[in-house]
Amino acid sequence: MSSNLVIVYHRQPYEEVEVDGKIEYRENKSPNGIVPTLKSFFGRVDKGAWIAWKQADDPANPDFEQVIEIDDQHGAYTVSRLPLTAEQVQSFYHVSSKEAFWPILHGFKERYNYDPVDWPTFREVNWAFAEAAAAEAAPGAVIWVHDYNLWLVPGYLRTLRPDVKISFFHHTPFPNADIFNVLPWRKEILESLLCCDVVGFHIPRYANNFVSAARSLLDVETLQREKVKPEMKAETSALSEQSVVTELGYEGRKIRLQSSPVGVDVDYIETLSQSDATAAKVEQIKQEIGDAQLILSVGRTDYTKGGIEQLASYERLLENRPDLRGKVRLMHVSVAANSNMTAYEEIQQDLEQMAGRINGRYGSFDWQPIALISRPVPFDQLVAYYRAADVAWITPLADGMNLVCKEYCAARTDEDGVLVLSEFAGAAVELATAVPTNPFSHKSMDGAIEYALDLPKDERRGRMRLNREMVRKLDIRNWAEDQMQAFGGDQGAVIAFSREVA
Ligand code: UDP
Repeated sequence: MSSNLVIVYHRQPYEEVEVDGKIEYRENKSPNGIVPTLKSFFGRVDKGAWIAWKQADDPANPDFEQVIEIDDQHGAYTVSRLPLTAEQVQSFYHVSSKEAFWPILHGFKERYNYDPVDWPTFREVNWAFAEAAAAEAAPGAVIWVHDYNLWLVPGYLRTLRPDVKISFFHHTPFPNADIFNVLPWRKEILESLLCCDVVGFHIPRYANNFVSAARSLLDVETLQREKVKPEMKAETSALSEQSVVTELGYEGRKIRLQSSPVGVDVDYIETLSQSDATAAKVEQIKQEIGDAQLILSVGRTDYTKGGIEQLASYERLLENRPDLRGKVRLMHVSVAANSNMTAYEEIQQDLEQMAGRINGRYGSFDWQPIALISRPVPFDQLVAYYRAADVAWITPLADGMNLVCKEYCAARTDEDGVLVLSEFAGAAVELATAVPTNPFSHKSMDGAIEYALDLPKDERRGRMRLNREMVRKLDIRNWAEDQMQAFGGDQGAVIAFSREVA
């Protein structure tokens, strides 16, 4: 019971490697990504703790140390690993979270799979996270819970530790009542979230959707509503809102709703982008591609990412514009997530089939219109592709934020390159000067990619300059600062605020 800040996140905050039979805990290879950002908060507190899970054959007698002490560049912190069985992990993470919650969060009711959900196991695992967090938290500490697979943790925590401050951040979209209420456990989830002091979302739309769901089932009161800041309501986005609820009242308590988009580490990406190694790789890519334009698409293999719709649009482009044959190449990076769900396997098969057909129909020995990459590209190499790509084609059907589009802009220190961005990515509310596209419309998809390929240099630069300004303004430091302010309030003294992050 000694930590001022307890982070509850399902993944461990380091890479665990076995060297000569001994376990070593290594810093994640790339400082890019959410985990290093969260760890950087430990530099601001006297003592931090992180709660995650680790698979064990026998949880009553795990073959690993449950609590370890880490001392790294971020400071000293405790990591509590909850021993879960393979069955618990499968049930809580792969089934309840990925098959039931994930489609609902992204608005895909038809993909929702209720039958295999084992709710008692979901509760049990969330309870274990709450107990571990409660055991680590100092009196009045901040407990910061992340993402939908831990939805029940705040409710349990409030019972275990009425003294702590609870903040919950959603890294996904949040749907409105029409969709959220498909979940039979809707009331229990909302009641748990309303035990928080702060509930965080990327953008105002998700906060307002949360209010719509809460209002449909519970007697919540809107205590405060504010105008959305101009930098978060691009007219080109389908997700913009003019005003947002920022405070709710429920059962005599006040719950702050925060809309704060996760950004990228612009300084880190710029440094990488301007390195000699990146320059050499960019040169090599440009030589390989010759005078063709490179279109880059990067995402996970997931129905929300719209990969199938994108390849269909690319096929139409080559059909309708014979002049582009031999003059464009699409590098479509679609990486499987750590899940063996059949839905993802089917998408992978469809992508392979479509890419094969496109290459067969239009390609030659010298020119293959599409390179489908299914293995993850290391981040430093990805930055070189960002630098080399004439167009980044990012067209999810639904996406909580989408960091790839922000990374592309951050990497373009030369201010060139065109970003084509789905109206349904959270990032679209910020990036008003991206070329917008609606992935549900053939006309819009085909028109946007043609427009981007034909865009004159002056306009490319004008748009990219403004995109870059926005990506810098709403970078990861801005997000961290927002989070710190939200932890503040009457407990502001608990965590000393500093602007230095990562
Ligand atoms: N990424 C990567 N290599 C790849 C594909 C993706 O490093 O081959 C990284 C990418 O740079 C980004 C993240 O994975 O930081 C994907 O984040 P995003 O928000 O775009 O999508 P998510 O997968 O979180 O839905």
